[in-house]
Amino acid sequence: MSETPARQAFHDFIDRHRSFLLTTHINPDGDGLGSEAALALWLLRAGKSVAILNDAVVPPAFVFLNRHVPMETFEPALAERRFTEADALVVLDTSNRQRIGRLAQWLDRHLVAVAVVDHHVSHALGFGQVNVIESEASATGEILYDLIRESGTEIDYDIAEALYVALMTDTGGFRYSNTDTHAHRMAADLLGRGVDPQRLHVMVHSHASAERMRFFGEVLSTLQLECDGRLVILEAAPEQFQRHGLEGADTDGLVDLPRGIAGAEVVVLFSEVEAGKVKVSMRSTGRVSIDQVASRLGGGGHAHAAGVLLRGSRADARDRILPDLRRLVEPLPVDRARGVA
Ligand code: 5GP
Ligand code: MN
Repeated sequence: MSETPARQAFHDFIDRHRSFLLTTHINPDGDGLGSEAALALWLLRAGKSVAILNDAVVPPAFVFLNRHVPMETFEPALAERRFTEADALVVLDTSNRQRIGRLAQWLDRHLVAVAVVDHHVSHALGFGQVNVIESEASATGEILYDLIRESGTEIDYDIAEALYVALMTDTGGFRYSNTDTHAHRMAADLLGRGVDPQRLHVMVHSHASAERMRFFGEVLSTLQLECDGRLVILEAAPEQFQRHGLEGADTDGLVDLPRGIAGAEVVVLFSEVEAGKVKVSMRSTGRVSIDQVASRLGGGGHAHAAGVLLRGSRADARDRILPDLRRLVEPLPVDRARGVA
C-alpha cells in the first residue's frame, strides 16, 4: 500500500467536499456496486452526506448491498435533484465518461467536482479532476480497500462485505489472472472482519431464473469452434431474448462458461438484445490479450475480459471482431497442459 500522489489527491478531494453523489457504469456489476456501497459507508462514517445514482437498476444479485444508502435509478427529475444537492461526484469502476450512461448529460449541465476510481486499462486518463486509476488492481474495490485503510476509517462488517463482493466478482471467485497476493491478503483480512464467503457466494450467484438457464442452454448448444477449437463463438438473437422474457443483463456469466472447454483460448459472445444493437463480450483464458480488439472499436475492458457495443447486425459485428481474434489465436502453440493433443 503506497499513498501515491493520485491517492493523496483523492483524500484531499474527500476532505474538501461535503455532499457526494456516487455512480458506476451501465450494466452495473459486483465491483461497481460493491465499491459504491463501501465508499458510501466510508463517507457516512466521515460525516458526509451521500447519495447513489446509477443509469440502471440494481440487478437482483446485488440488492442486498442497497440496504445502507439507497442505490437509485436514473430518472430525469431525480437526477436533477441529486446533481443539484451534490458538490462532488465520484465515478467508480469506469474512467470512460460515456459509460455512466444518461448521467453524462447531467454532468454537462451541473458544476460538480469529479473524482474517478477505476482499474480498467483502457481510457487510463480519466475525466475527473482527480483520477485514481490503477490497472494492476484486481477490482476497483481493492483500490477502495487501500484508500479506506489509508484514511484510518475502521473497516467494519458492512464495508468488508461490500468490498468482498467487489473482489470476489471481479476476480471470478479468485480464478482470473488479476488474483494476486494483494487480492488474497485483502480477502483474508475481510474474512477476519466477519465476512462469510460461502454465504456471499450464494447471495450473489443464486438468482438465475429457470428461464435464464434454458436460454443459456440454448445459446451454448449452438456454440461454434474455429481455429482448431482455440476460438469459441456464441450468438444470442433478439428472438431468443424475447421468447425467454430476458434482457441484456441476463447474459452475465454466459460468456465465461465455454472458457472451460479444453484448448479454448478466446470466447466471444455476440448478444443482439434488440435488432441492430450487438453487445460483444470477450474472454481470454490467459494467453492472449483482447482489450485492444474492443478498444479499437470504441469499447474497452481488461486484458482477459473486454467488450464493446456495436450498431448493426450480428453478421456485421462478426466481420468486425472475428478477424482480429483469429489473428490472435492462430499462432498459439498447442497448450498440452490443458489436455489438448
Ligand atoms: P462484460 O463482457 O462482462 O460486459 O465486460 C467485460 C469487461 O469489459 C468489463 O470490464 C467491462 O467494463 C468491459 N466492457 C464491456 N463492454 C464495454 C464497452 O462497451 N465499453 C467499454 N469501455 N468497456 C466495456
Ligand atoms: Mn471492476
